[in-house]
Amino acid sequence: MNETIFLLLLFGLPAALGVKLARSRGKNPFIWGIISGVFPFFLLVLHFHRPDKEITGHFRKCPLCNRTFPWKDSACKYCSTPESGSSAI
Ligand SMILES: [Zn+2]
Repeated sequence: MNETIFLLLLFGLPAALGVKLARSRGKNPFIWGIISGVFPFFLLVLHFHRPDKEITGHFRKCPLCNRTFPWKDSACKYCSTPESGSSAI
């Protein structure tokens, strides 16, 4: 019983984190959940990965330089273009 809980924490925790991170970056949560569960190192890879497309609620795409930046930021951190939303051409 204790071993089951131990294994669940050992592989389940990084796997759950991997699923969460993969979702926010537009990657396959199933595949990345398994990879992260076996190799927690890939959580770092996911964490520092920036998606190449806009992911609602997580990452915005700059209309000017086409780079992605965190959704909560109000301006592009690369070229300082303000996130205009509806007023974009
Ligand atoms: Zn930009």
